[in-house]
Amino acid sequence: MKRGAFVYVSEAGAFSYGPDHPFDPQRAVRTYELCDRYSLLGPDDVVVLRPAPVTDADLALAHTPAYLDALRRADEGVAPEDAADWGLDTPDCPVFRGVYRHAVLAAGASIAAFDAVAGGVARCAFNPSGGFHHAFSDRAEGFCYINDLVIVLAKLRQAGKRPAFVDIDAHQPNGVISPFYADPNVLCITLHETPRTLYPFKGWCEELGEGEGRGYTVNLPLEPGADDEVFTRLFTRIVPAALDRFRPDCIVLEAGMDMLKTDPLAHLGLSSNALVGAVRLLAGRGLPVIATGGGGYDIRNTVRGWTRVWAALIGREPADIFAGVVGGMMFGPEAEAGSLVDPPVIMDGERKRLAEEEAERVGAFVEKEVLPLIEGPR
Ligand SMILES: [Zn+2]
Repeated sequence: MKRGAFVYVSEAGAFSYGPDHPFDPQRAVRTYELCDRYSLLGPDDVVVLRPAPVTDADLALAHTPAYLDALRRADEGVAPEDAADWGLDTPDCPVFRGVYRHAVLAAGASIAAFDAVAGGVARCAFNPSGGFHHAFSDRAEGFCYINDLVIVLAKLRQAGKRPAFVDIDAHQPNGVISPFYADPNVLCITLHETPRTLYPFKGWCEELGEGEGRGYTVNLPLEPGADDEVFTRLFTRIVPAALDRFRPDCIVLEAGMDMLKTDPLAHLGLSSNALVGAVRLLAGRGLPVIATGGGGYDIRNTVRGWTRVWAALIGREPADIFAGVVGGMMFGPEAEAGSLVDPPVIMDGERKRLAEEEAERVGAFVEKEVLPLIEGPR
């Protein structure tokens, strides 16, 4: 079995949400290139895969036929008359040429990641073109059209697996939480910027699932003053304990890079060190991991971060021997490109104190009210 499968959507750069839109599909292509420069796509203990074909049955795991039909009709780049009924043709979810093809390719890449892991080809898989955690069954939302994560989680359930979904994107994964909110067979754990200040304005720690699924949604919101310390303290306090109780047989990870301090859309203050530390901790549990990208709107730092995520998944430390090459035209000024590793972000002052206080409250609440509800396999 390979250490990891990297799924590469070479066509991703051919699609554009529009010149003023923050989402750039090209990020995933650059991540592939940077991983290659750091020799992380070889030798033969890792494999590079292409997106898998996506069947109608796969798409139906996450979306209604009527929504898929509308998305298909939008593929030429002209908004259909009923676009507004499906969340299409909005500033967040524009209709562009290839909108359907792009979304299906990204989903196919996550399905390839699932196939590699479920089929025993690789211990883990990473699709930096995936992670569309805001798409709902019948509407597009938050830059997302087809929810590849819901498809993968549903396919894992069909295969008799009991997955844990962990999301470290700045935005709460409302499109994934929603279909599994009453399901005790999928544990959803998410760290994100507080709903007070960021879309989708959901994800208070008191939102803990419903019915039989009560306790199986773990919301861990962070205040804007959160830095590496605050994130890491809350993550290590809650996530391993939740996984210990649930005892999943695989992990699905959405590794957005928009918690980074330099991200233009979110307001958190992390470096990639904290996020990569979280990935290392998850990968170290010895379970199969299916990981995707997600948000990340500082393109250069997102690409650097995802390169480290991939390295962490396959248990490698990228050598900075190629730093000079990386500092070429594509990755900006030489001076900044000396290393893949960020300097740690440790803040202080009133904002930090408030973020620490709130993380303490959230951690204590979840320990007392949520973790005890989580049970292992029956
Ligand atoms: Zn995000």
